[in-house]
Amino acid sequence: MTEKKWVYSFNEVKLVEEYVGGNWEGVRGLLGGKGSGLADMTRAEVPVPPGFTVTTEACNAYQAAGKFPAGMWEQELEALKKVEQLTGKKFGEASNPLLVSCRSGAKFSMPGMMDTVLNIGLTDKTAEGMVKLTNNPRFVYDSYRRLVEMFGTVVLEIPDQAFEEPLNEYKQAKGYKLDTEMNAEDWKAITATFKAVIKKVKGFDFPQDPFEQLKLATEAVFKSWNGKRAVDYRRATNIPDDLGTAVNIQTMVFGNMGEDSGTGVAFTRNPSTGDRKMFGEYLLNAQGEDVVAGIRNAEKIETLNSKMPEAYHQFMQITNRLEMHYREMQDVEFTIEHGKLWMLQTRNGKRTANSAVKIALDMANEGLITKDEAVQRITPDQVDILLHPQFVVEDKEVAKKENRFYAKGVNASPGAAVGQIYFDADLAEKQAKQNKQDVIMVRPFTKPDDVHGMIAAKGVLTSEGGATSHAAVVARQFGIPCVVGASHIKIDLENRLMAVDGKVVREGDWISVDGTTGEVFVGKILTFTPKIEEQTDLLTLLKWADEICAKPGTRKFSPGWPTKGLQVWANADYPKDAQRARSYGAVGIGLCRTEHMFFEKDRLPIVQRMILAENLDVRKAALDELLPYQRADFDGLFRAMDGYPVIIRLIDPPLHEFMPNEDELFEEVITMRVKGETTGLAEKEKLLADIRGMHESNPMMGLRGVRLSIYMPQIVEMQVRAIFEAAADCTLSGVVVKPEVMIPLTGTVNELKWIQPRLIKIADDVMKEKKVNFTYKFGTMIEIPRAAVTAAEIAEYAEFFSFGTNDLTQMTFGYSRDDAERNFLVTYVAEGILPKNPFQTIDQGGVGRLMDIAVKDGRTTRPDLEVGICGEHGGDPDSIEFCHLIGNNYVSCSPFRVPIARLAAAHAALKHSGKALAEDK
Ligand code: PEP
Ligand code: MG
Repeated sequence: MTEKKWVYSFNEVKLVEEYVGGNWEGVRGLLGGKGSGLADMTRAEVPVPPGFTVTTEACNAYQAAGKFPAGMWEQELEALKKVEQLTGKKFGEASNPLLVSCRSGAKFSMPGMMDTVLNIGLTDKTAEGMVKLTNNPRFVYDSYRRLVEMFGTVVLEIPDQAFEEPLNEYKQAKGYKLDTEMNAEDWKAITATFKAVIKKVKGFDFPQDPFEQLKLATEAVFKSWNGKRAVDYRRATNIPDDLGTAVNIQTMVFGNMGEDSGTGVAFTRNPSTGDRKMFGEYLLNAQGEDVVAGIRNAEKIETLNSKMPEAYHQFMQITNRLEMHYREMQDVEFTIEHGKLWMLQTRNGKRTANSAVKIALDMANEGLITKDEAVQRITPDQVDILLHPQFVVEDKEVAKKENRFYAKGVNASPGAAVGQIYFDADLAEKQAKQNKQDVIMVRPFTKPDDVHGMIAAKGVLTSEGGATSHAAVVARQFGIPCVVGASHIKIDLENRLMAVDGKVVREGDWISVDGTTGEVFVGKILTFTPKIEEQTDLLTLLKWADEICAKPGTRKFSPGWPTKGLQVWANADYPKDAQRARSYGAVGIGLCRTEHMFFEKDRLPIVQRMILAENLDVRKAALDELLPYQRADFDGLFRAMDGYPVIIRLIDPPLHEFMPNEDELFEEVITMRVKGETTGLAEKEKLLADIRGMHESNPMMGLRGVRLSIYMPQIVEMQVRAIFEAAADCTLSGVVVKPEVMIPLTGTVNELKWIQPRLIKIADDVMKEKKVNFTYKFGTMIEIPRAAVTAAEIAEYAEFFSFGTNDLTQMTFGYSRDDAERNFLVTYVAEGILPKNPFQTIDQGGVGRLMDIAVKDGRTTRPDLEVGICGEHGGDPDSIEFCHLIGNNYVSCSPFRVPIARLAAAHAALKHSGKALAEDK
């Protein structure tokens, strides 16, 4: 049996490909990002200093056994011999010493999280040899002290200060300010001091055997995979722990060998604007870290042309080739040693969201990538960033440095907001409207009657609640940056202040809320707001995304809808939301929550009168008063969505939500009684008794949704009349209407059997009265598990399904959507009991399974059943992918999330082209 290969020279990439079965992902997995890049560049005959890579498999074997796997070290020595042959230098030999670097390199870049040791191979003996060879003792001893210091800190884990302090003392004694003032003798002295530090702290000498140096450095890099920094970074970026890091051992080349040497870093396109122009800097007579550390002012890359035209020309050619080869913007590191150019690294460059879009479009237009690839290159998060007010990064950094970070909660609605805090909705609204203040509304949690304050505010902060709490849902709907469940904050409503560990912020003080990250800061941070209509590149990209979804596909489930992907609709309650939704690219309204219209100031008293009505006539009279309001609302929606479907959901919440708060009313009654006030007392007492009569222990599972419609049909009868009168009027004025009436919370088909024919009759009556005809649909929400598993029966009546995944998640798990996120759910996610918050991302194994059953069974009864989703998950990219797989026709989300959903829908269509689960039948 041949020995397992743990080490590959940079020129052995072919062997690696054979071993991993030909795919580049496999090569990256084995050699890491850096190692595979170096090997790939070597193959492309780019000048790369020779070297080799110890594989991630070796790292994993080391982690498992606590020692190098058998044969690995011997293979390293063999590979080192090859490097000696290629360079003509010899490791550890004084006459022409080979020096190497030893760097980590995982599959995914983890910048600065793991360890590196440079200049390995320098010893007292080889240093002397190098001095003779280079005639540059300053360079040699500067390099040597760097090795001793890095070896001390990285390999021997001695704290940095142990080296920094004596260096600073030395400089002070000599009157130096900068390292550049240190001469050869100074560095030689410092090298000796550093060696003494090692001896003192560890009790042994800095190894004079270069092989010992290399062995220990390799081991240190392996160990750094499990260092705290690296582990934290992996947690934060979801990089799996079992990937391991590779170790790259590479010939050192030096940019600090005189004025014909230099070093630099560059991006093949501008990483902040996306402009197609090399962007980089370099320093002559310097080492790589000098550029990064900014010790000296680096020069713009263009100026290299006049200083070293040949090297510059070659550099431009190589980087151009690299970009063509990887078909991506590259971030490169290079060194010029005595006029010879060496490429040290190439990788896909990190960039701002803005430049990511521009680069993707440009590359597609240049023919370097396809339009589909351009769409795939942009992440939903990047689109999110582009659409919301954002903090100026540098200013946020300043806030962090100034210790102004205050608390962290759930990032419920993205964007940055800065304002003065107010603790109740009325005051928030007043300060915003009358006093033109920028306001952040802060509450423990919000209720429907807080909405006016939220809308007036720039941002919302709550100490309770989660991603589907009222505050979160409303904030997302209106695009208000919002952080919820910041549970460290103690809100003291009585004293109008909030506090975190004694840090008090009072009403009227300024705070900054980052709804994208969930962070809260004290004081102001600068922001800027991008506008979608001004973002032509983004609009083009989204158009390409729509084209992907609209292309004829192979999905068989919906005749007349032969698309490849999902449509994106929006949840919108008011005409202005619908207009916004359209401007963001929505092609339908997937949910209009009609009850929100009842909460408006001029309507609420009528709604309350209607609820408390003692007889049918009084109730009908109140409903007659409400009808014109509702008709006007629907009229506006139909006009805004001219030609697109509009799903209007009939009243859903329990009636007590429209009534005054029971506790507050009770307090008022008691106060009046105590004070002996009699005027109006009897009415208040009666109201209190009525409200108490409506009390339910579990209102979410009580008289709401279709149950309420059956118990008190007059409300939905009024709503359906209003819908159809508006639709008829619109049709008569030339607007194309596609009304779809949605019945919420169905649990048994018998509910639909009871209510739907009554409502259809009203619809038909109105059409007859108005003498118009248009098509309409009646359908239901699937938000109770029983509805999902009896979908075949339900589809006999329902012409469409819309998954109400907020309730469906609540009922499937048995977790209260109002409470779970503020207590155990956080622990569940932290402990890995649940992989993600199921109120944000669909739980595919449970809730998703029910959805899949519902789609399949529903379509057995009604093959052209239209299926959508309107729960909060409709704007979540992972959930959108799942909806694509089960064969939804559309997803519906808040208008502000529509662009993200359009991109996510295209991603799903490309990823699963022709593979919808619904086809498996
Ligand atoms: C749902 O339950 O997912 C839904 C959209 O309805 P609501 O949030 O209004 O209950
Ligand atoms: Mg619901």
